[in-house]
Amino acid sequence: MREFLVAGNWKMNGSAAGNEALVSGIVKGTPDGVGYRMLVCPPFAYLSSVAGLLKGSNIALGAQNVSQFDSGAYTGEISPSMLKDVGCEFVIVGHSERRAMFGESNEIVAAKFVAAQGAGLLPILCVGETLEQREAGTTEQVIDAQLDAVLDAAGIGAFEQAVIAYEPVWAIGTGKTATPEQAQAVHLHIRKRLAGHDGELAGRVQILYGGSMKGDNAPGLLGMPDIDGGLIGGASLKANDFLAIAAAAARD
Ligand code: PEP
Repeated sequence: MREFLVAGNWKMNGSAAGNEALVSGIVKGTPDGVGYRMLVCPPFAYLSSVAGLLKGSNIALGAQNVSQFDSGAYTGEISPSMLKDVGCEFVIVGHSERRAMFGESNEIVAAKFVAAQGAGLLPILCVGETLEQREAGTTEQVIDAQLDAVLDAAGIGAFEQAVIAYEPVWAIGTGKTATPEQAQAVHLHIRKRLAGHDGELAGRVQILYGGSMKGDNAPGLLGMPDIDGGLIGGASLKANDFLAIAAAAARD
């Protein structure tokens, strides 16, 4: 059975004092139960201090972005090995905000995925369609192109050490959530696309849902057969909201 991953993407939010309160609330309130893991992804500036705050807990640390380059004259960039060095286990690649606002193409995202894995990080590859694309009936095509760029660059075997997050752009930060059935349909499509390359491996890949996930809609989403956790923005910024989603993931 696949484990759930409950991942918080803090985006460009937080402060030294605020992070301390948030992490201590999450660590103290971690729900009993098995079959799930929690992850927090603070901004780069706070990775080291949050790594310290997480010590002794089993909550993992991740970054929100990474350079596709290893080192050198890339002002303002952060390399995969640097993330590893400060204690990251995961890194988000291809978040829709990076694609839309920072010009990250499918090819750049694929290069970041490969570079992250090269340094021993687990990439969380975000895919998802805009509202216009959904309304035009091109959701599957868009997602296939996003996945295929990574499959071409890294090969199916790379998904042994990676996570996928399906994040419909129209549901991110909007309060609109995909229904469990809408999300499940896309998750199943993603799994089938991977299964076209390796059916056995496809059955093991964690596919998270992201888009206004909250404590009240988490049980329905996490109850679907191909949804293996959440990538959570807004609701990861308050310990109780994040913990309510973790509670929905915890099994007896
Ligand atoms: C996200 O940014 O990955 C996200 C899912 O945000 P929110 O939960 O706020 O919709």
